[in-house]
Amino acid sequence: MNKDGLIVVTGAGGFIAGSLVRYFKDKGFTNLRAVDKKPLYEWYQVVEGAESLCMDVSEYENCVRAVEGAKEVYNLAADMGGMGFIENNRVDCLRSILINTHMIEAAYNAGAERYFFSSSACAYNTDLQKSPDVVALKESDAYPAMAERGYGWEKLLSEMFCEEYWAEKGMKTFIARFHNVYGPFGTWDGGREKAPAALCRKVIQAVDDGSKEMEIWGDGSQTRSYMYIDDCVKGIDMITHCEELIATPVNLGSSELISVNELVDHVESVAGEKMKRNYKLDAPKGVAGRNSDNTFIKSKLDWEPSTPFSEGVAKTYTWISKQYSDRKAGKRTVS
Ligand code: NAD
Repeated sequence: MNKDGLIVVTGAGGFIAGSLVRYFKDKGFTNLRAVDKKPLYEWYQVVEGAESLCMDVSEYENCVRAVEGAKEVYNLAADMGGMGFIENNRVDCLRSILINTHMIEAAYNAGAERYFFSSSACAYNTDLQKSPDVVALKESDAYPAMAERGYGWEKLLSEMFCEEYWAEKGMKTFIARFHNVYGPFGTWDGGREKAPAALCRKVIQAVDDGSKEMEIWGDGSQTRSYMYIDDCVKGIDMITHCEELIATPVNLGSSELISVNELVDHVESVAGEKMKRNYKLDAPKGVAGRNSDNTFIKSKLDWEPSTPFSEGVAKTYTWISKQYSDRKAGKRTVS
């Protein structure tokens, strides 16, 4: 695409979409529209030169405005959070279907050439994720379907919309199933944060207040893989420009499997501190184990997310530390 073709990104006040707008700007794209329902002062990143619109894209009329003139649409807006949010707010998660049905229809009517949808590893059959010693999930493992209640089922249905808009209407759609994304400029406090950010914050806090004690949800044996944000935005771009991946869900995740206890080890080593770990066994913890099988993405793109966790978590810790101390100093921060 020409560098001046209009790229629209929804959810751009949030973590991943905000970084995606910055990524396109850094690549030299000059016509960017960032959309989010949050007021601008709550966005993690407001990218200079991009048109930033505060609009709720669960309303069809707003979607029409959002995608006007778009060549490419990246729809990442969703009501979401970490396990605590997903398990306790299933209605809100399901209502993201309004965003996804309206956005894809508006993008189609606007003649968008490419439409990207951010799905999730939560779309996978939960019966396959009952042990921390997981066999990595491959794309075909979503069916027979038994997705995460609420959030995962919504993603699965929205994937199907993407598949059928291609099959019936010929719009090129692209679907990535993200596996736990982390990095700077993401939620780190307030209840929607995910494990890496939450655990960084807890260590920072425990060092700051001198308690050197932290709460861990579950027994710490749960395993996941975590993808650094730079890999995520690069992967979105590569997937959306691969003709062999039209309307085909593809894993976008790291395949470096680590347990929550190992995650805390990493954070402690960045902090240079050891914590007393208090395990909260009745807290939300999601499936026992999950990893990304990257055979398919490697076969199509000759690439996979590869930032080592030790590297990404150090950058994330530094960023959250700064947010924490800024907030303590009375400066405005976004959590
Ligand atoms: P995020 O919460 O930081 O960003 C989502 C943004 O969407 C928020 O800023 C929110 O205000 C906005 N939004 C919600 N409803 C909206 C609406 N009706 N209209 C306009 N904006 C709206 O989340 P994120 O981590 O950046 O996630 C982005 C996408 O990636 C989501 O679709 C999410 O489901 C998916 N995903 C994320 C992860 C992860 O690990 N972060 C994993 C799997 C899938």
